Amino acid sequence: MHELAVTQSIINISSEEAVKHNVKTVKEIRIHVGELSGLIPECIQYYFNIASKDTIVEGALLKIKKMPIKIKCNECGHINVIKKGEYSCPKCNSYNIKIIGGNEFFIESLEVE
Ligand SMILES: [Zn+2]
Repeated sequence: MHELAVTQSIINISSEEAVKHNVKTVKEIRIHVGELSGLIPECIQYYFNIASKDTIVEGALLKIKKMPIKIKCNECGHINVIKKGEYSCPKCNSYNIKIIGGNEFFIESLEVE
């Protein structure tokens, strides 16, 4: 049910923004979702369609951009994008790495009318 809470916050934040800017219709909501956030984009859209009924953002399309996992190597300073489960530096093979991206979840922008 993680997605439902997240969806509710998407609706709240984008509705607030729409009201603030005197927007009539929100056509599109662009969201960044990190691969490590554990959120499933399809579920978010599903919950959104239900939960946005009778709100200002009803009918908006969610454009969800999946953000890759990004690491910084503590040994050689290399910054790279890695796949899930491959937690080592592609350059020097060190496991002494720090995850600097992939956990994000935020609304990037709204397309309005
Ligand atoms: Zn390295």
